[in-house]
Amino acid sequence: MSDKKGIAILGSTGSIGTQALEVIAAYPNYFDLQVITAGKNADLLIEQALKFHPNSVVIGDEMQYTKVKEALWDHDIHVYCGEEALCQVVESTEVHTVLTALVGYAGLKPTIHAINAGKTIALANKETLVVAGELITRLAKEKGVNIYPVDSEHSAIFQCIVGEFHNPIEKIYLTASGGPFRGYSAEQLQGVSLEQALKHPNWSMGAKITIDSASLMNKGLEVIEAKWLFGLKAEQIDVIVHPQSIVHSLVQFEDGSMKAQMGLPDMKLPIQFALTYPNRFKTDFQRFNFMDYPQLTFESPDRKVFKNLDLAYRAMHENGIIACSLNAANEVAVDAFLNKKISFIEIAQLNETVVNSFTNILNPNYEDYVISDFNARKKAIELIGN
Ligand code: NAD
Ligand code: MG
Repeated sequence: MSDKKGIAILGSTGSIGTQALEVIAAYPNYFDLQVITAGKNADLLIEQALKFHPNSVVIGDEMQYTKVKEALWDHDIHVYCGEEALCQVVESTEVHTVLTALVGYAGLKPTIHAINAGKTIALANKETLVVAGELITRLAKEKGVNIYPVDSEHSAIFQCIVGEFHNPIEKIYLTASGGPFRGYSAEQLQGVSLEQALKHPNWSMGAKITIDSASLMNKGLEVIEAKWLFGLKAEQIDVIVHPQSIVHSLVQFEDGSMKAQMGLPDMKLPIQFALTYPNRFKTDFQRFNFMDYPQLTFESPDRKVFKNLDLAYRAMHENGIIACSLNAANEVAVDAFLNKKISFIEIAQLNETVVNSFTNILNPNYEDYVISDFNARKKAIELIGN
């Protein structure tokens, strides 16, 4: 095994995945890229494999296996396809850290395999903790596995508590940009288009998280993610809208002191910190200039108009399986919105109806998550109709 840190990137062709490859390319003496995977984008996966020469690649879409295999056959790169292969490649002895940068529920199973194999997790795929935070954190504890956050807000919290692990957190504030519809009334929200929803003011991200940001579901998912990552109660987590996205989140300690982590919005920084912790490597990322931001402003989120945030708080309060059902409903709803089958406000309505359709299961096991995810998706699809 080499001295370098072996990395597997699940979802290397996405927004986080491609930025992670930039980070890895900047430190060739530190990182050893072992595994890259994609859902459907075979062309980019092949291009990345030819450039980075990983040990293995996985294409999720089995129809494209032959294409990838043929393109890489004489490059000494193992090519696999399908969901099971994702679970196996993360277990390789050469892999030290698994960056989970795939989107949605699909991240859960490979993350469980990676934790069981003792791999460090750099977690971008927040849905894994939303769906099964209880199971994942218990498993990580049992296996002595660290989960380092990639999500910018959670990385901010993590950066604020480094060196403070013995000091209890009183409260955290997750900042939210407010998205493209900040300040909209319920009436104004009725008529918004897909194109408007896809225009995030500060971040360029994958389609699903961009819509989640516009509906404040992303902040709801992040509240649940924070609960599990930092072992907090619902009352200790607050959301504050900060349209400039410079303060990435804040921690308040028991003496009342607050720490914030700041910087220009650039996901490469939290990705890099998760991969190099406890070290900070020198970068040439653009530096913050105070004169460009003479005012940093803060306001309360409008929880009456953006109902997803309250739904997430409810899921967090009630514990059990609700967050899993909420996540499944939301994945179906966002997909339907992206395909112009439902309107923007119908996303939160659908989420609420689906969550209300099921009784909670406390202390769920893995099978409970699988069944609840399946049932919630089925219900959401039925409600949308054709
Ligand atoms: P994306 O849509 O740009 O990329 C997703 C990646 O996962 C792609 O490589 C895709 O091929 C792969 N993928 C999708 N579905 C798959 C499946 N079923 N099986 C296997 N692979 C699959 O998404 P993204 O914006 O990079 O986000 C990835 C994750 O990181 C999400 O959970 C998101 O919430 C989180 N996150 C993203 C950002 C960001 O700035 N983009 C910030 C914070 C957190
Ligand atoms: Mg975030």
